[in-house]
Amino acid sequence: MRVEDLIVYGKSKVHSEHAKMLLAALLNVNSLELLNYLDQEVPEEIEKKFKEKLAELVKNRPIQYVIGNVNFYGEEFLVNESTLIPRFETEELVENTIMYLDEFFEDKNLKVIDLGTGTGCIGLTLKKLIPSLDMTLVDISDNALEMARQNQEKKGLDVTIIKSNFLEQVSGPFDIIISNPPYIKEGEEIESIVKENEPSLALYGGKDGLDCYRTILNQCKSKLNPKFMIAFEIGCNQREELLKLIHQELGNVKVICKKDLSNRDRMIFIFS
Ligand code: GLN
Repeated sequence: MRVEDLIVYGKSKVHSEHAKMLLAALLNVNSLELLNYLDQEVPEEIEKKFKEKLAELVKNRPIQYVIGNVNFYGEEFLVNESTLIPRFETEELVENTIMYLDEFFEDKNLKVIDLGTGTGCIGLTLKKLIPSLDMTLVDISDNALEMARQNQEKKGLDVTIIKSNFLEQVSGPFDIIISNPPYIKEGEEIESIVKENEPSLALYGGKDGLDCYRTILNQCKSKLNPKFMIAFEIGCNQREELLKLIHQELGNVKVICKKDLSNRDRMIFIFS
């Protein structure tokens, strides 16, 4: 079949953007370039693969897992079922972290740790954009660490990757802690495509969703330099409870809560 025929076929089964993304990925071009090849015949082997993968999409498997990668901050990251799919909100976390880092620290030779790194998207993006950072990525999942390692190798970035339950197995001291920890409450309603496909370990943060913040805020006291910044992605209803927790654990620190582009409270920045 021709490219155009396969797109039409795909569109009859799944969202048209997904059909195009999938075919483009299999042909090693981007979705826009695909339109230059509408008339071209697709090799039989690729047509077969396309149809197989289309069936996975029909079964509600996320497009990012089907394709095996995702765009984050303009860069391709490998992703599989062992890791959370990097989200747009997390790009905002990275963007705001860079802004505050710039304002708060004059010297950019900073020791930074990305807790619960998953694909490595946060830490690797920061390292790429600010090469002077001494970056450590940690995760508790061996499979996630493997994914982070593959992304690190692909990008040729010099970072340290360690298996650890947040800060437990690392010594520090750090200037910056950044994390998008699991923060969904036990039993909270979430989209079925997320619930059925993404790792629970990367999603759920205990009864009130705050367990990981509790752990990090507790562990970090002995692992931070006197001048420090902590950047958290948070659930949109967690602001008040988290502010309480932060002041309980860290005393009189400066805290800024930021909204995302959809105007929801989604990030917290803590400064010594
Ligand atoms: N740090 C990764 C991300 O933001 C993974 C986060 C997680 O697994 N909760 O995509």
